[in-house]
Amino acid sequence: MATGENPTVLMCFHCGNETLMKKLATHTIKDSDKIGMDDFGDPLYVVDFVTTWDLCLCPVCKECTLTKEEWCSEDSPFSPGDKIILFPTIKRNSGKIPLKIHAAYEAALRVRRIDGRSAHCHFVEL
Ligand SMILES: [Zn+2]
Repeated sequence: MATGENPTVLMCFHCGNETLMKKLATHTIKDSDKIGMDDFGDPLYVVDFVTTWDLCLCPVCKECTLTKEEWCSEDSPFSPGDKIILFPTIKRNSGKIPLKIHAAYEAALRVRRIDGRSAHCHFVEL
């Protein structure tokens, strides 16, 4: 694990803000597959697989987010790997809550840690 990595912009699912987060720790695992074999027993080419986990700190609510990003050397060098958020667990609107109410709830979450009174006003307006 390394510390003090570059900050990254992420959506914080604790407080709902998309913000610049400080990387507290990074862990990377590299693996490779040897493809084919030439007359000398050497692989024709090698495919690399890289998985990186980042632990990031939200400056707004001081909670941590854990992400996982996977990359393969067969992918385009110009496109980043797929990054998913492992923690906190993301709760999506299942369709049972009307969109207007769900959007207002998410807006209230965004301001909850900044201004508790403002968050209260969003709920009251519903
Ligand atoms: Zn946050």
